[in-house]
Amino acid sequence: MSIAEPASDQSASVSQDQDRIIQAIDVVKTYDTGKVQVQALRGVNLVIRRGEMVAIMGPSGCGKTTLLNCLSGLDVVDSGRILVEGVDLATMSDNKKTEYRARRMGFVFQFYNLLPVLSAVENVELPLVVSGVPAREARRRAIEVLDVVHLVEWASHKPSELSGGQRQRVTIARALVNEPGIVWGDEPTGDLDSVNAGEIMDLLQDLNQKHNQTFVLVTHDLGVAQRTERIIRMQDGQIIRDERVIDRAAGIWAPATEGEKA
Ligand code: ADP
Ligand code: MG
Repeated sequence: MSIAEPASDQSASVSQDQDRIIQAIDVVKTYDTGKVQVQALRGVNLVIRRGEMVAIMGPSGCGKTTLLNCLSGLDVVDSGRILVEGVDLATMSDNKKTEYRARRMGFVFQFYNLLPVLSAVENVELPLVVSGVPAREARRRAIEVLDVVHLVEWASHKPSELSGGQRQRVTIARALVNEPGIVWGDEPTGDLDSVNAGEIMDLLQDLNQKHNQTFVLVTHDLGVAQRTERIIRMQDGQIIRDERVIDRAAGIWAPATEGEKA
């Protein structure tokens, strides 16, 4: 797979540092439910570099999913800015954001469920078909990526005929089929036992290292987080800790340097 050429059409807000695939600057997001206002993000600053593998941890309700939604342009921020490959998301139209996501991002979210009436291969090729790739080519690429997740023999099976781990691998295959520069995971191993979760992490680490794909994974599983290279911890809508692995075998982590923070 060939990954991660920068966006061609960059506006005036281009960051000079092409290495910064994602940047959040003073991001604030409040949900107004009528009765109460929930401050889901309260001033988040963050830089994620191309090829990084990052875990985001924190208690339920601290804003992890909101942050992923805002960083990926699925949701809009109230104030602050999100730059994706140097381009301010606020300068993109909804259509452009949708197109950008389809082309450059992969999602492994619980709510991105597989379609039960489609086979594994049909689910995987769907993003390609939707974005206009000819059927034959879409099928070829879907099979290729099913091979990466060791599921070719299961290509014609429906989700109901697959185990939880296999279904999750189909979801991952679908997220990877368009060779995204960045992959977002919201509890990507959430429904899996530790053996299956380990296999999924093996796969993601492999893709990260071989193809320099960027992974941002929300997880409450410390075992999963410790297999990334950086753990960002959130609490009450803010980042409270940002640590990078120094020596995985020895379990040594150190605070991310100032330069890596926004
Ligand atoms: P996490 O993923 O860390 O569990 P979320 O980002 O889902 O947290 O939620 C952060 C806060 O925002 C929570 O208090 C949650 O109840 C609230 N929230 C999330 N989405 C909505 C929404 N669509 N409407 C209202 N409140 C929301
Ligand atoms: Mg969540």
